[in-house]
Amino acid sequence: MQASEDIHCQVCDSHDCPPLIAQGGWRYRRCADCGLVFLSPMLNDDELAALYANPDSGGTRAYFRKEASKLRRARGRVRYLAKAMAGGTHGRLFLDVGCSGGFMTQAAMTVGFTAWGIDPDGNAVAHAKEHYPGATYQVGGLTEFAAEFMTRTEDRFDAVYCSEVLEHVANANAFIDAIAAVMAVHGELYLTTPDIGHWRRPKNLPDWDVFTPPHHCLFFSIGNLTQLLARHGLEIYHRYWAFKPGLKVMARKVRVKT
Ligand SMILES: [Zn+2]
Repeated sequence: MQASEDIHCQVCDSHDCPPLIAQGGWRYRRCADCGLVFLSPMLNDDELAALYANPDSGGTRAYFRKEASKLRRARGRVRYLAKAMAGGTHGRLFLDVGCSGGFMTQAAMTVGFTAWGIDPDGNAVAHAKEHYPGATYQVGGLTEFAAEFMTRTEDRFDAVYCSEVLEHVANANAFIDAIAAVMAVHGELYLTTPDIGHWRRPKNLPDWDVFTPPHHCLFFSIGNLTQLLARHGLEIYHRYWAFKPGLKVMARKVRVKT
């Protein structure tokens, strides 16, 4: 059990975070100031590793069953990213954080990007390497990748894609900080995550299909997502309309964090 003085909001640092809901022994709090909903106590590194090492928890096979539709969606999304790129996409560096089977890296390569993909799931990365060669793939987490990448090269990514990953991380500041660090100034970020503030989100949280403790540790709405990104020099400048309760945003790196 955390000491009460340790409980605070990752986005706005508020300590006014009363309990919101408990399910299956997992408890969530909601920040009274910015509305962030977060697992509390949060998973530690060992618990996170165990969660994603369990072969029954990932649903990798089910994911690849939808391969054709995933590829179609990836092509659509990469077109948005390509349009946002001043100076075009040719030879520009693209990174998919949570690349899974390589659908988005494949789509990125078709529009001219030099693509990289990282994912902690070794099976998914093996699939990507086999089916969508030509990109650079790496098994592992973002923060370790970013630290290693930045010591190895001065290159930075012109475009970063991160879809349905942020809700899984225990430390949103470390995660977004690592994204911002590997991005070029004026680089583009396409990010998606569930939207707890969405008008179509079921009022009763357990009825929401993405309310899946403890896999989803953080639930954002547009206000606190904007605030989190701004802390790391990233400015949301476009939000896509979404019928399903999800946030889909484009952000740009506007400053280097000092
Ligand atoms: Zn807050």
